[in-house]
Amino acid sequence: MAIRDGNQIPAGTTIEADVCIIGGGPAGITVALELAKSSVNVVLLESGGLKDDPEPQELNAGTNTGLDYYALDETRFRVLGGSSDRWAGWCRRMDRSDFDARSWVDTTGWPIAYDDMLPFYRVAARLCQLDTLDPEPPDPEGLSPVYRKPFVGNDVEIATWQGSPPTKFGRVYRPDLESATNVTVLTHTTANEITTNEDGVRATGAVAISGAGTTFTVTAPTVVLCAGAVETARLLLASRSSRPAGLGNDHDLVGRYFMEHPHLVTARLRLLPPGTSGRPPLDPIDRGFLGTRARLAMQRPTGSAKVAYIIAEERRRSEEMLNFSTHIRTVSTVSREDSEAYQAFKLVANNMRSPREMVAQARSGAIPEGASEQLRRIAVGAPEIARVIYQEALKRPKELALYTQSEQVPNPSSRVVLDDTQVDASGLPRVQLHWQLSEIDKASISRAHAILGQQFAQSGLGELIPDPAFENDGPDWGPGLRGGHHHMGTARMADDPRHGVVNKHGRVHSVHGLYVGDSAVFATGGYANPLLTLVALAARLGGHLKRTLA
Ligand SMILES: Cc1cc2nc3c(=O)[nH]c(=O)nc-3n(C[C@H](O)[C@H](O)[C@H](O)COP(=O)(O)OP(=O)(O)OC[C@H]3O[C@@H](n4cnc5c(N)ncnc54)[C@H](O)[C@@H]3O)c2cc1C
Repeated sequence: MAIRDGNQIPAGTTIEADVCIIGGGPAGITVALELAKSSVNVVLLESGGLKDDPEPQELNAGTNTGLDYYALDETRFRVLGGSSDRWAGWCRRMDRSDFDARSWVDTTGWPIAYDDMLPFYRVAARLCQLDTLDPEPPDPEGLSPVYRKPFVGNDVEIATWQGSPPTKFGRVYRPDLESATNVTVLTHTTANEITTNEDGVRATGAVAISGAGTTFTVTAPTVVLCAGAVETARLLLASRSSRPAGLGNDHDLVGRYFMEHPHLVTARLRLLPPGTSGRPPLDPIDRGFLGTRARLAMQRPTGSAKVAYIIAEERRRSEEMLNFSTHIRTVSTVSREDSEAYQAFKLVANNMRSPREMVAQARSGAIPEGASEQLRRIAVGAPEIARVIYQEALKRPKELALYTQSEQVPNPSSRVVLDDTQVDASGLPRVQLHWQLSEIDKASISRAHAILGQQFAQSGLGELIPDPAFENDGPDWGPGLRGGHHHMGTARMADDPRHGVVNKHGRVHSVHGLYVGDSAVFATGGYANPLLTLVALAARLGGHLKRTLA
């Protein structure tokens, strides 16, 4: 029906709807777009506005009490479109085996299979504006030879990621939301409690507070939580009027099993000197200036795709390891993650994939902190950027780096909890994130090193040298450990309520009418970036609601 500013809604108003969606990121927008094809009356509550705004963003502040992690207000964004306003656009489906139970790891296995997901992955690919709806990865022919035989074989394969423009869901789908006759989006509106009947077994709607501080109510027999995996857990835990431990928390599972994808350089590949006898033909990656093109192709093979080595499923099973991927990169002494100038350069360079979109973003003010600030950082940091470019693109490399993005096993101690000593402007307790990893997460990477090292040595590429932190199985991962802004698992999906918060349809086991539509429901996380899978799950949930509410 419209996009309305929640600040204009008088205090005490009651809005009636059939479905109340909480959160207007990729998940919430996808559910709304599916329901727009029905006669169901939908209200979507979104904390942020149509543009970046520091006030709602402040509601994301919280504390990290576990492993070193991004500040919580710098790893997700409150604006229509959610974190898709800032995402990098890398898309890959989870592997078929990611949905299966593994005997050597507790709490693995989804109640749905890869084949159940396939039709929805097609919907997700369309929504993410990918070139192809084909569920198979693009043909690897034409990729850098580093990612072909003999460097890949039976045990070492390659995985391909597709690049989305990257789609900013709030901008791209705003016209569809505006024209849907049965959907109303309320911006600057934060849900601070999910309401239920007295027993806490049936959802009845949500209490909302606007940016201006006025409180009003949405009544709806169906509530769909799409606030992102951290906020979804926060809101379930904080909704304690009828259930003191929070909604869906009968088995103390809400907020637990928070998963990320550990991202870090885990090993170096010392190249054999050029001319070493027996070395198979390879792009001239180690030829200084002459190898520049080959090295760039190695890192971003086809402009809109990138690839990584993975370990074949059979070998992973026989080694009892987790899923794993690693990209080959050139080595730099400048920390790419910490350098503001390099981050600004990367932002602009990434957007070069779609110059038209970049101009549109610059005009609409969608570039974080503004285009002029990013250009200023590039200008001030030009010597630093030049050093990265020299080291990574022009200089003759003696070593390459293995940049790993791997799976972490669901771990109940890795969790989101409420900090009841601190309350934000919406009246919700702030969150504490206690990110934890497990022994098998690191051990799996070490096993992958051994398999890759053997393959590299046999094919004459070079010698794999694990990072010192991976030479032992202690808990230390070294200083390079990062996440990928991938938040998953805090309201996991399982058939048995003792093992999961939601059932296979995303419905909270113990509360009728309450659903979770975002990556909080991931039972395991594989290594693939989550957005494509969470959008597929949201499309699946939207379809389920359309059928059951019609
Ligand atoms: C810098 C960066 C790069 C990334 N790159 C990639 C990538 O390349 N590939 C990939 O797959 N993923 C990537 N991601 C992750 C991806 O963006 C997220 O997984 C995805 O956006 C999650 O979608 P969502 O709808 O579940 O949650 P979000 O995007 O977090 O959206 C949730 C929405 O809910 C709103 N909200 C929260 N609480 C409330 C409340 N109480 N009431 C009302 N509204 C509320 C928020 O304002 C927000 O708009 C990246 C993330 C970041 C930050």
